[in-house]
Amino acid sequence: MNLKDKTVVVTGGNRGIGKAIALAFAQQGAAVAICGTNETTLKETSAEVERVGAAKSLGHKVDVSKEDQVEAFTKSVLEAFGKVDILVNNAGITKDNLLLRMSEQDWEDVLNINLKSAFLMTKHFVKPMMKARRGRIINITSVSGVKGNAGQANYAASKAGLIGLTKTTAREFASRGITCNAIAPGFIQTDMTSALGEKALAEVTTQIPLGFLGETSDIANTVLFFASDEARYITGQVICVDGGMVI
Ligand code: NDP
Repeated sequence: MNLKDKTVVVTGGNRGIGKAIALAFAQQGAAVAICGTNETTLKETSAEVERVGAAKSLGHKVDVSKEDQVEAFTKSVLEAFGKVDILVNNAGITKDNLLLRMSEQDWEDVLNINLKSAFLMTKHFVKPMMKARRGRIINITSVSGVKGNAGQANYAASKAGLIGLTKTTAREFASRGITCNAIAPGFIQTDMTSALGEKALAEVTTQIPLGFLGETSDIANTVLFFASDEARYITGQVICVDGGMVI
């Protein structure tokens, strides 16, 4: 895979899966822009991205659910890098509860940060890709969006929505040489899953045919493949990287 001269944008690139994705591109020599809401981790991860070999690095504080902030971020990335080849919509949150107990606010927060964000980022970052007549958009959905999950009505709806957005984006921009695919992780070791606690995680592991939780690199490696020229004939697809949870 030759990703050396590519420019990449990763939302939520300051920690967890997004950080692993940003570092994986940096190790290939790509220019990497990350965004998130925490300025401290953004600074730390941007410095690490540069240390491991990125051609250039940029870390901006952006709430990806706000269009004015997404628009300003697009301008900054284009000023710094001159082009955008790859967009990874990874930022996401959970606010779990049973449907009957779920508040309207928790529904809206999760839909806005997990789904509306990908719409806004795609809308603004696809423009330079259209001009270049090539590009890669990769959305991080979830097995919850594929098969539903009790206690996650908001999260599963947002992730299922991302799958619809992925397929539509693939259809709308295929003629411009832009592909759009989604990755549905199962249980991956990050802050998001460690919040579940040891007992719940042990129970969850019994539902994974391969018998262990995935690592952030499992997702990052799949992103690199979708971003590469080797994946040029794949668009509108969802691949589960989940130890066999969805078979
Ligand atoms: P983490 O909780 O570790 O990280 C979430 C990331 O999203 C952080 O970088 C955070 O940045 C960013 N983020 C949250 N809200 C915003 C916002 N409003 N604007 C910009 N950035 C924001 O999660 P994971 O790394 O585990 O998950 C990454 C993605 O993978 C998510 O979309 C998640 O749904 C998905 N996923 C994860 C699974 C897992 O098992 N871990 C399983 C299936 C899917 P900051 O801290 O600066 O706010």
